[in-house]
Amino acid sequence: MSSRLPGFYRLGVAERRRQLDLSAERLAAVDPGALTLEAADGMIENVIGTYALPFAVAVNFLVDDQEVVIPMAIEEPSVVAAASNAARMARPAGFTTHVSAPVMIGQIQVTHVDDVEAGAASVRESADSLLEDARRLVPRLAERGGGPRALDVRVLAKTGPDGGVLVAHLHVDCRDAMGANLVNTLCEALADRVSRLAGGRPGLRILSNLTDGRTVTVRCRIQDDPQIAAAIASASRFAELDPYRASTHNKGIMNGVDAVLVATGQDWRAVEAGAHAYAAKSGRYAPLAVWRAEGDAICGELVMPLAVGTVGGALHTHPSARLALELARVDHADRLAALAGTAGLATNFAALRALATEGIQRGHMALHARGVARAAGATGDLVDKVAAELAACGDVKPDRAREVLARLKGTQP
Ligand code: NAD
Repeated sequence: MSSRLPGFYRLGVAERRRQLDLSAERLAAVDPGALTLEAADGMIENVIGTYALPFAVAVNFLVDDQEVVIPMAIEEPSVVAAASNAARMARPAGFTTHVSAPVMIGQIQVTHVDDVEAGAASVRESADSLLEDARRLVPRLAERGGGPRALDVRVLAKTGPDGGVLVAHLHVDCRDAMGANLVNTLCEALADRVSRLAGGRPGLRILSNLTDGRTVTVRCRIQDDPQIAAAIASASRFAELDPYRASTHNKGIMNGVDAVLVATGQDWRAVEAGAHAYAAKSGRYAPLAVWRAEGDAICGELVMPLAVGTVGGALHTHPSARLALELARVDHADRLAALAGTAGLATNFAALRALATEGIQRGHMALHARGVARAAGATGDLVDKVAAELAACGDVKPDRAREVLARLKGTQP
């Protein structure tokens, strides 16, 4: 099925569903109440209900020569439209991705080490044997082609209130799992031996969310007006020069990334933590994606850590998350990382293009106006009529919406 679906946004929900390659029974997984109270109660503590978000698909995507609709769950208007529009513009070439091996880092902290250099050397000397111990603990992961890959040591402090401090990093290929629980289990199992070797006391044993060994790279080349291409490149340079701008630039990327992560049941806090730590890796907070003009084309490249899973986590229990993976035909974690990164590059492009041309508010407000019109009580055709009036006068507020609605209905507020 081609993901190029012109006019998809103008259809009703039922017709949009018909256009997707899935049965009505499967799509019930995104009906209200699909996550039952019983299932929710098993997921977290003190449950008193469930919380719904709009679930959409961004269309027009071509990612590594494959047509794909990208599921998104998000409360913010215009993200899905922006992604779909960018994906349309990126055709026919679309987006290309490279995903690294899914290697996560587990940290084993050792404190009160008298001689940290000697302690570090002793752990390094036993790295192979520690790795052997670790591998024995996760035989099934090794059978799947993953498992512990390397162990290295960093000295953090020679002295201090808790003495000399060092940390051992265990690098684990987690295959299709996000890997937090896997890695934490391994760190806990190795901690005593590592601290004995280092001559100190075991401290924390947990994964690092700065998963710089598990990154995705996404590229695209989009034909555009040379002046617009130059303006987008200048907007990118602004983010490269200024952390205040880079923060907002990256927020535009995370709009797309997080919407995919939420739809697919991922730990988006873990990805957020990793993304911003990675952005600041050089010591100066930087954009995760940069854009360069090449005549009448604008070329974008995004590199960011993206630790996601297609097994484990909420996927055991959340029916909508499983459906989202099915909609996007994702069966491995690397494809999910590629799609989340692609969504991020797409929403980044759309935001920069809007900012560099007409400003972001016009398009955003037009979409926001529909929500305000609905909240004021408009239904059917009246939603678009009220929204159009609100957007035209630039006063997108509930009071104004009620006034317009009353007038259009021929009554007074
Ligand atoms: P998990 O605990 O469900 O483990 C995944 C399991 O899936 C593995 O143990 C493995 O046996 C199995 N598996 C089946 N097929 C596999 C395949 N093809 N590849 C790899 N494993 C396969 O999940 P997890 O990924 O270890 O942990 C993720 C959870 O941990 C998330 O819910 C996250 O929110 C949570 N968490 C995060 C942090 C953090 O980010 N700092 C800390 C603690 C917990």
